[in-house]
Amino acid sequence: MHIETLAIHSSHHPDPATGSVAPAIYLSTTFARRPDGELISNFSYSRSGNPNRTALEAAVAELEGGSAGFAYASGVGAIFSVLQTLKPGDHVIAPADVYHGTRDLLKEKAGWGLSVDFVDMDDIEKVAAAIRTDTRLLLVETPSNPMLRITDIRSVVRLARAAGARVAVDNTWPTPLFQRPLKLGADYVVHSSTKYFGGHSDVLGGVVVAASEDETTQKMREQQWTFGAVPSPFDCWLVRRGLMTMPVRLRAQAESAGKIARYLQSHPKVSQVHYPGLPDHPNYAVAAGQMEGFGAMLSFQLDGGEFAAVRTAAGLRLFTQATSLGAVESLVEHRYRVEGETSRTPKDLLRVSVGLEHVDDLLADLEGALRKA
Ligand SMILES: *Cc1c(COP(=O)(O)O)cnc(C)c1O
Repeated sequence: MHIETLAIHSSHHPDPATGSVAPAIYLSTTFARRPDGELISNFSYSRSGNPNRTALEAAVAELEGGSAGFAYASGVGAIFSVLQTLKPGDHVIAPADVYHGTRDLLKEKAGWGLSVDFVDMDDIEKVAAAIRTDTRLLLVETPSNPMLRITDIRSVVRLARAAGARVAVDNTWPTPLFQRPLKLGADYVVHSSTKYFGGHSDVLGGVVVAASEDETTQKMREQQWTFGAVPSPFDCWLVRRGLMTMPVRLRAQAESAGKIARYLQSHPKVSQVHYPGLPDHPNYAVAAGQMEGFGAMLSFQLDGGEFAAVRTAAGLRLFTQATSLGAVESLVEHRYRVEGETSRTPKDLLRVSVGLEHVDDLLADLEGALRKA
């Protein structure tokens, strides 16, 4: 079946007890046993498992083509659970421009005994050079944030296999609609479901999908129970509902993003546009070879520098200045100012999350703001 169909029907059936078409929200923290002490269902206590969470985990695992899904209270929580499968002394390779929350997490974790190297992973030679005998995990984020660089997942997988390391891909931006890392050989996919899965800026969540069941998935299952960073039933319900429209939302958003990228590219005040769907993007061939579509995130740089970028963001009416991405409303962000002094982001850059508004209205908004900037 196609992803649009799976997004609706995976682990989603009318309730046999009531006929309810929309799933119930199971707030119950505990689940009854029969007189003989046996559980009535597989559920016993909501930290170890809850019907809303199980349905979400199964659906995301199916969309990604994996064998097990684990939902967490945030995307960072999901990434953390993958790191928790590593032992002190293990070496991790992560992208130099990795999501800043993941960077903080890895730096913190280096304190518990992980060693980490941040590498420009769109350059596969650099990845190869960074591999050590104790490398256990290569974390990939593609397209990257906010420069939209593309890492060749197949090549990273080949290097990791040879080194006996695993590969985790943060698939938050492309989603399984546009990219299936497990099919390309990755071991794990991680998601911030706060973004396109939820899709409405109203729920925080994260999911890990593993390609196959092994000792690490057993660890993740234990972590949900022992560390307890699980999402609430209502949060799971919201993400599961968001998933139903995710493919059609993102397809429409990506189409608009392509149009906006081409518009910006031809604008005299714009010096550079970063969008992997543009044929002159430096990694276009790799993107076209591993993605089914190019997503709805883009960034661009202005000839007028930081001042022009800030002025443009301020002049937009439909693009809200806010962190985050992937929802129905378009967002714009001056990443340098948000990330602060240590940021590697160019000061003249704006990052855009293209929403579901009519593209002509978005283009008119950009035109107006750029004229004034
Ligand atoms: C937002 C984001 C995260 C973190 O997710 P939270 O749900 O905010 O914890 C991780 N990776 C990427 C690529 C993101 O965009």
